[in-house]
Amino acid sequence: MTATLEPTATEAPAETFDSLNPANGDVVGTHSVASKADVDAAVARAREAAAWWGELGFEERAEHLLTWRSVVTRRIAQLADLSHRETGKPHGDAQLEIVLAIDHIAWAAKHARKVLGPHKVKSGLLMANQAATVEYKPLGVVGVIGPWNYPVFKRMGSIAYALGAGNTVVFKPSEFTPGVGQWLADSFSEVVHGRPVLQVVTGLGETGNALCTADIDKLAFTGSGRTGKKVMAACAENLTPVLIEAGGKDSLIVDEDADLPKAAEAALWGGMSNAGQTCIGTERVYVHERVFDAFMTEILQQAKGLRAGADAGAKIGPITMPSQIDVIRSHVDDAIAKGANVALGGAEAVGERFVQPIILTHVPEDSTEITEETFGPTLAINPVGSMDEAVALTNATSYGLAGAVFSKKHGMDVARRIRSGMTSVNSVIAFAGVPTLPFGGVGQSGFGRIHGPDGLKEFTYAKAITRQKFKPIMMLTSFARDAKTDAKVAQLITVLHGGKQTLK
Ligand code: NAD
Repeated sequence: MTATLEPTATEAPAETFDSLNPANGDVVGTHSVASKADVDAAVARAREAAAWWGELGFEERAEHLLTWRSVVTRRIAQLADLSHRETGKPHGDAQLEIVLAIDHIAWAAKHARKVLGPHKVKSGLLMANQAATVEYKPLGVVGVIGPWNYPVFKRMGSIAYALGAGNTVVFKPSEFTPGVGQWLADSFSEVVHGRPVLQVVTGLGETGNALCTADIDKLAFTGSGRTGKKVMAACAENLTPVLIEAGGKDSLIVDEDADLPKAAEAALWGGMSNAGQTCIGTERVYVHERVFDAFMTEILQQAKGLRAGADAGAKIGPITMPSQIDVIRSHVDDAIAKGANVALGGAEAVGERFVQPIILTHVPEDSTEITEETFGPTLAINPVGSMDEAVALTNATSYGLAGAVFSKKHGMDVARRIRSGMTSVNSVIAFAGVPTLPFGGVGQSGFGRIHGPDGLKEFTYAKAITRQKFKPIMMLTSFARDAKTDAKVAQLITVLHGGKQTLK
């Protein structure tokens, strides 16, 4: 990605930037840098379109979304190729992420009415004369700022759910994957005959900042915690609510009764796929000491032949963001300097564009390979004396995004004790493909949820309505209320709540 100044047809210089293929530096596309005025204009168009889109109702919106889902499905090869060129990830991986995204569009479309439509709720004894209803209304215009590592799947969690809930969206894709963002907006535009329901503004950080301070009703951010803090600060100016999906340092725990070949397969894929550039990727592995040696033999055996490269035989692509190479190198160097063992790869595995798989063991818990997000194809594998120790070490981080546990007997128990938003038992990353499950983190991994019913509600506000069915037995909300009524109220509340509390 490079920024340049180029003249437009009207002779006025318009700033542009190039997206580059990280495997070889080729220019994939040139995009304009949207200014503050451009962003404000897009948001104004989105505001107008929100009136139409919001009024359509769940059925019609679902029809449009399901048509879009079909269009994306039919053109999956085209989109996967663009994502492959912009991110460098293998074509099959690019396709897999689109497959998951398609399923989420369909889920959001089909379930919006059931989750968000009017629901009758009980009004309680004190208000028995009232009918009570709750429904979830669209916020209006949602700004979405996305990362580059999963340019389709990660954004769809906000875009499809925000649209399904009745909002319009202005999307600022990462400067490393602007083409994918534009492709998504263009294909949606075809479905709604050019109405600005989903628009893209391309650019760098400044364009993102302009979106944060624009007249939007919510900002959904996915990216690093460092940028997340800037986004929150900018949004605070207008009291704009934010959803933050930031980084992680997930662990995979292997118990002594685990299926070791399956656990090793999961750790290897969880750590190395997408060149380790996965927010919910496996970065740490804690293995019960009784099976540590057997696990290491297994994972090193499975890692044979796994390599990064640009050819069809390579299962790992390049590092998409050039600056990450230095971060990966510094984490590996720090771990080795502090006494970690190199089981595979090592410092020399970090190249200029590609990083070959690196597996370190006995990595000191105070090294950056354990404490900070590495975002590269590296695994830190440490032995533990018990599952209690594995849970304690897993939780000894400021992050709390996801994780995995491999155990025949204690998987669910260990999963519940991990302080993170999502955990897979005896598999890795499975939760991301289950549309009904909420996705999001705690601590430095962010807050708010995409996917599932929580993901739809994230882009709405709850609207509560009471309708009086008949006159109240005791009129409480009136200056006509007298001492006799007050005494009756006191009596009633004592009967209702004055006794021994029980849940039965
Ligand atoms: P990043 O924070 O560098 O950039 C994210 C987006 O923010 C980009 O579109 C960028 O242009 C924009 N931006 C930059 N400065 C801004 C500013 N001042 N105001 C507003 N927007 C600004 O992150 P990245 O390198 O694109 O993505 C990698 C990070 O994202 C990793 O930490 C990864 O863990 C995280 N991530 C998290 C999830 C999740 O669901 N929790 C998913 C994918 C990626």
